[in-house]
Amino acid sequence: MTEDLSAIDAYARETDATVVGADDEGIVLDRTVFYARGGGQPGDTGVLMWEDGSVAIADTVKRAGIVLHVPRGEPPAVGTVVRAVIDWDRRYQLMRTHTALHVLSAVIWRDFGAKVTGGSMEPCRARMDFELEGISVEFGKGVEERLNAALAEAHPVDVSFLPRSEALADPDLIRTKVSLIPEHVDPIRVVTIGTIDRQADGGTHVANTSEVGRVRVTGTESKGKDNKRMRIELDP
Ligand SMILES: [Zn+2]
Repeated sequence: MTEDLSAIDAYARETDATVVGADDEGIVLDRTVFYARGGGQPGDTGVLMWEDGSVAIADTVKRAGIVLHVPRGEPPAVGTVVRAVIDWDRRYQLMRTHTALHVLSAVIWRDFGAKVTGGSMEPCRARMDFELEGISVEFGKGVEERLNAALAEAHPVDVSFLPRSEALADPDLIRTKVSLIPEHVDPIRVVTIGTIDRQADGGTHVANTSEVGRVRVTGTESKGKDNKRMRIELDP
């Protein structure tokens, strides 16, 4: 099992590690700072460096619970001690974008009672779908103001690990369908954003909503009945 440092410290940019497996699909390390694609957040890119070589990492994925660093080139041999370094600029943009999406979902729930039906993100650009009956450019502008006001309140973002039984009884987590998390997951990782959002989540977030910066709502569109899409962009 790989020690996943990104789950406890999103600001960890690099670590020493030992290669414990390597094949065509990817490199397995005993510990890593790379975030494996999941929960709508793309996998990290970066580089592995060792005494007499290096290889770029094009993506990080999870297969059967194992974190795979997808190499662009010849992987190091098993047993090699490497320095694992993520592309921090890209990751930090993803952290800001991920936190922005949680606050967006919280604002839409708080003010309009609509749940999230889907979403995806790239660095500084994302979309989220909501169980809304209607949507318009004006609605988008109003949400943009509410979203930026909530971010400017500088809410701390806290990561905790809750025993599964406790998580299943938490009203906020029930709303965000914590019961759908596979039964073997215990404890459950919970991301809490001040007083405004709390959900089971595996992603990497900034430590405070003030780090997100200003967010623009750049698109609103209907994807069908009770399914409306909102697009957002952050400053780079
Ligand atoms: Zn999330």
